[in-house]
Parts: sequence; structure tokens; C-alpha cells
Amino acid sequence: QVRVRFAPSPTGALHVGGARTALYNWLLARQTKGAFLVRVEDTDVVRSTRESEDMVLEDLTWLGLHWDEGPRVGGDRGPYRQSERSTIYVELADKLVREGKAYPCFCTEEELDRKREEAEREGRPPQYDGTWRDADPEEVKKRIDNGEQYTVRFKVPSGSRVIIDDAVRGKVAWDADSTVGDFIILRSTGVPVYNFCVAVDDALMGVSTVLRAEEHLTNTLRQVLILRALDFETPEYAHCSLILGSDRSKLSKRHGATSVTLFREEGYLPVAMINYLAMLGWNDGTEKEIYTVEELIEVFDIHRITKSPAMFDGDKLRYINGQHLRALPSKELEDLVLAEWKLSGVFNDTLEADSPLAQAAVALVRGSLELVNDANEEMQKAFAYPLDETLASGEADELIGEDGGFNEVASAALRAYDAGELPIGDDGEEHKGKWKKWVKAVGKEYGRKGKRLFHPLRLALTGKMSGPDVGEILQILYLTEKGEAATSFVP
Ligand code: GLU
Repeated sequence: QVRVRFAPSPTGALHVGGARTALYNWLLARQTKGAFLVRVEDTDVVRSTRESEDMVLEDLTWLGLHWDEGPRVGGDRGPYRQSERSTIYVELADKLVREGKAYPCFCTEEELDRKREEAEREGRPPQYDGTWRDADPEEVKKRIDNGEQYTVRFKVPSGSRVIIDDAVRGKVAWDADSTVGDFIILRSTGVPVYNFCVAVDDALMGVSTVLRAEEHLTNTLRQVLILRALDFETPEYAHCSLILGSDRSKLSKRHGATSVTLFREEGYLPVAMINYLAMLGWNDGTEKEIYTVEELIEVFDIHRITKSPAMFDGDKLRYINGQHLRALPSKELEDLVLAEWKLSGVFNDTLEADSPLAQAAVALVRGSLELVNDANEEMQKAFAYPLDETLASGEADELIGEDGGFNEVASAALRAYDAGELPIGDDGEEHKGKWKKWVKAVGKEYGRKGKRLFHPLRLALTGKMSGPDVGEILQILYLTEKGEAATSFVP
């Protein structure tokens, strides 16, 4: 059975990179009917908080990345918080010491600093020199009995090589001697070191594939050495590339919103986030970019995760959100948009979902939404009447007569408007028919069609040279004036 895990350190919000790691693991689990675990890596007691853990778990839940084992849901291989697993780590570290695969080291911080400086001066790598590696057992026992402080160091077997076949990066090999010295697995305070916990947990939790961020690739060497020493199996590894901001530096807060919570608050749909994150460093080899979650589960393939870094593109995310928004059942989209309008005061609470006004207004903005709250701006844009600006910009010059007034079509439209003679009705379809007929008649009267007809009509009635359908705008104005719901866009 495929068992994968997402192992957040609860030191802040869930960011795009973490969410992507969680998603890839989740997709792999769902695709193979395996298990998706969440393990909270809270050994850094200073930086870890329960609030962060809650935030991360809330965001995973909002994204729909439900876990089969982990905090809140439990499971057979728990506990799933590293802070609750200390006895396990200490026991296994002791086991390694008993078997001669790890040893107590009594070097003080000062001694270690001195050794490092010495190594630096002599141009050697700053690795631990193995002072206590082959110490006299009597001496060690005496010091322990004396209550001296010590750390437990892992004895890196000399001449060992580690080779992994990374699902993303291919073969990666390390020559252990030249890469690491005997490293600490248990601090003098009895607190286990991060890499030791990860290796032990991955093994005891039966993790079959470790899919995580590239920055952890260098940890893999130590983790594999620990797994081997404990006679545990080595999982498969897959390290995904970095996510970069638009300036090609590592994505960070400088680049704007990067936490899932913020995207949630901005109104992104979970399915759009999932779709975008999936594409951020993976593709199915086709041009397709809009996926449902079910489709992703089906086609996701860890061997197609890209080796090169992915660039976070907020516009693309917005675009994808727009695609998913418009793919919602119309009732759902309507409810979202109406709720947004009421919240921001574009309409007051009396606007009813099934009313002609609501229908007409949603239809007006629907096509240009990327985020639900774009609906506010779309309404402002549609109903602002910036005639002065349009005239000043020169866009409308052609439509202005020699006397400085509108051309005859625009003037006719305004006259009809003022006289209340424009064909505007309650019923959407009926209205459309009447409006079209009226426009046609005007065109015939003045011998104009196409742009030469529509531009002056639009200019006269909306003050602009472009925007949503004029007939639809007029109908919304009419329904609003009739009192279907109070609104902030009609002055
Ligand atoms: N706790 C690590 C992190 O949040 C992940 C470690 C791992 O996946 O092995 O970056």
C-alpha cells in the first residue's frame, strides 16, 4: 500500500509551497487508494505553536486535502505530533548506542567551536573529528556516572555511499565520509535532532514514498544512514523543485500573498487553488490546464513533476479561478455573487435571488469574473457615466458633430431616453427582443450599422466607448429604478 505523508513544521501559516507538497502527496494517495498522513513536526519548541498547527490543518481542510491518519483523526501509527514521540526517539537512540552504531560525545560547545576554527584554518571541512568515536568504554561510563552532559552522535560507517533513485531528480549519490562527520542525533538536553525524528517516523509510520521540497534533499543522506543503522527499509524519495517569484528569487512574502489563508480570504475557490498548485511544477504532457480534482487524481504522475523550478504566477491563478467560477452551476455562482454584492453594499439585502434584477445583474458581470469580488468593480464600471473622460480622451471624436454636439444617432438615443421611450421591460427575453428591434430601427433611420451605430448609442447612454451590452445595462437601470432593490451604483 502506498503511504505518503505531509509533515508541516507548525511555525506559521500554510504557504503555497507546503500546500503543493501536501497536494502532490494527497493525489498520490487517492490515486493508489493508499493512505495520506499528516505528521506535525513540532520538535522546535521555540518556533512551533498550536495556533500555527490549527491554521495549517484548517487550510488543508479548506483545500479538501483530508488526511487518513494524523492529528484530529488519529490512526494506528500515532501519535502524529513529534513532540509526543520523545520516548520513541530516545529508545531508538539508546538502541543504536548499545549496538555500537552511535556513541556519547562529551565535547563542550567551546571545544567544538575550537575544532571548527582549526579545521577552517587548515582548510579541512568543518566536520566533527570523531574525538569520542572510539573512546575507552570505562572512561565513558565514568563520565556518565559522574553526571557529565553528553550528546549522542551517529557513527557514520566509514566508506559508506548512499544512492537514491529520486522519482523527480533521478540518481543522487553521496559519499558519506566526505559529506558528513558523525552527527548528533540526541542533544545533551535529551531532545532528538530533526533528521533523526524524520527518519524514525517515516519508518515507523510505514511511509512508502517521501515526496517533499527540494530543500530537504540534502537531509536525505543522514536520514538514509539512520534508517540503515536501524534496519528499517528506505522509502522511495521524490524532491520537488523550488517555487520562485516573478523575479526568479525564492517565493516569499515580498512577492505578495503566498499563504493559503490569504487566498482563501481573497475569495479563491479551493478547486482553483488545487488546479493551480497541481500545475505549479507538474503537467500531464498536454496543453490542458483546467482540471477538476477528480481528473487530477486520475492523471497525476510523480514522474512528471518538473525538475526545474516553477514560477508562481498570480495572474494565472486568477485566470484559473475565473474558469472554475464560470464552471459552477449557475445557482451557485449567483449565490456567491449576490452575497458579495450585499456584503459590499452594491445592492442592499432586499435583492432576491430569483428576481429579474438579480438575474440580469449576474448575467451582466458573469463573463468577466475571475474572482467573485470582481463583480463589485464590474458593476461600478458598467454604471459609472464618465462622459467627460471619454470626450477628453478623444476616443469619441468621430462621433461628435461639427457643432460640438453628438451625432444624430446619439442625440436620438438621448431624446428617447429622456422621454422614457426606450423599449425596456421586465422580462429578460422580451426585453432583448424589443431592444434589438429598436436599435435596428434607429440604424435604418440614420443609415448606419455596426460600430457606426453601436458606438454613438453606447456613448450617449453609458458615457463610454466600450463595456457590457447597452441593452442589458438599461434593463438593470430600469429594474433598479422600479425599486426591485436599492443599490449604490445609481446615483
Ligand atoms: N517539516 C519539514 C518542513 O516543514 C518537512 C520535512 C519532510 O518532509 O521531510 O519543511
